[in-house]
Amino acid sequence: MLNHFSHSELACPTTGELRLASGFGEALERLRVELDAPIYLSSACRSPSHNEKVRGHPHSLHLTVNDHWGTGGCCAIDAVATEGDYRAKIISLALDQEWSVGVASNFIHLDQRSRYCGLPQVLYHYGR
Ligand SMILES: [Zn+2]
Repeated sequence: MLNHFSHSELACPTTGELRLASGFGEALERLRVELDAPIYLSSACRSPSHNEKVRGHPHSLHLTVNDHWGTGGCCAIDAVATEGDYRAKIISLALDQEWSVGVASNFIHLDQRSRYCGLPQVLYHYGR
């Protein structure tokens, strides 16, 4: 489906469902190509049941079905990111490409809320 991401890493781990917001896969590919380094996903699609299981936000942009925002599918990923240079590079590139960015100690959450929800682009840090 996408050049740099497999079906299994994009799909919901609980249901195997894979539904991306229209054009989201292309945006993810563009980020990967311009980063020119692997992006290891720890989360992409979440079915409503999986989202509940991992205690995701009820309107999470990872959701495959999102009646609140009407995204048409998942428009968020979490990328494994533990090393300083890699973190800095993926954060700055993602911000340039209109992604919203959530910074955690061992991963970076990236979503396209400005494109699919009409929300302002944000950069935030997950509390400890
Ligand atoms: Zn996330």
